[in-house]
Amino acid sequence: MRIIPIIVPTPFYVGPVNCYLIAEDPVTLIDTGPKTKEAVEALREGLRRARFRVSDIRRIVLTHAHEDHCGLAHKLRDEAKDAEVLVHGWETGHRVGRLEYEDHRQLLVRAGVPDEEIRAMRGMYEKLRTYADALEDDEHSELKDEMELEFATGALRVVHTPGHTPGSCSFFREADRTIIAGDCVLKRITPNPILSPDPVDPTKRFHSLAEYLVSLARLRSLSPTLVHGGHGDVVTDFEELFHRYLRAVNERQAEVIRLVPKTGATAWDVARELFPGAGDVHRFLAVSEAVAHLDFAHSEGKLAVEIGDGREVYRRQ
Ligand SMILES: [Zn+2]
Ligand SMILES: [Zn+2]
Repeated sequence: MRIIPIIVPTPFYVGPVNCYLIAEDPVTLIDTGPKTKEAVEALREGLRRARFRVSDIRRIVLTHAHEDHCGLAHKLRDEAKDAEVLVHGWETGHRVGRLEYEDHRQLLVRAGVPDEEIRAMRGMYEKLRTYADALEDDEHSELKDEMELEFATGALRVVHTPGHTPGSCSFFREADRTIIAGDCVLKRITPNPILSPDPVDPTKRFHSLAEYLVSLARLRSLSPTLVHGGHGDVVTDFEELFHRYLRAVNERQAEVIRLVPKTGATAWDVARELFPGAGDVHRFLAVSEAVAHLDFAHSEGKLAVEIGDGREVYRRQ
């Protein structure tokens, strides 16, 4: 099975995104890049170099529905004359190209984010939305855990790896223990668990960090030799990376708990202490990181939480 990376530029801080062409029947593209002119051009060029065209694509598989990964899915599907698009059912809000703003707003209020900041973040949602076309329910099928994506010479097994987002999926090729992992595994950076509503009950928050740690352990149990991430170089030393991630998570846990004063703090307070210089989209990522760690510390019994004034206030036990 030939897995050909195609590196596609994005306008985002994270830099270019890795899309993967599975160059055999049915010709499959894993992730697409954002909806920008530059991304479409890079993708066409990558396909051309591999001696394919967009019209050859039969299947578009999304590791998750962030704009840098899913943005072009609709456009490519149309151009490839109804190629099948597959994405996990838990990528609810993102899947249709609109983050469910109202659900997110409630999560942000509970995290103690001030009104004017929430308004600024709304602008960010609106802008992000322009980098992806919506996929309606009848325009995609669902990826399911353990499902096999068949190819002429083998198969990729779907491994649901929630954490970065609720519906993040990885794809495992048993024959050589290769994994395509989207943003679940990244060479240079520890992936951010992004603040998301729970896909089953949107009034609740998705416990991203706890889920993420389970997903990482699950990938580790597959003893991967090569991991293709959503950004950056291929990972050949997953075991080492796994331990590096765990150390980073433990250090951040300790730091977050230290930042919670006896008098109590909201996730927003902790985020501002953790990343004082963060502006713009980074404030949202900072809140995501703080919430993920506070939830985790709470579930481990290290912090107590109370709701006052519609906001969650954490206290050290
Ligand atoms: Zn992502
Ligand atoms: Zn990404």
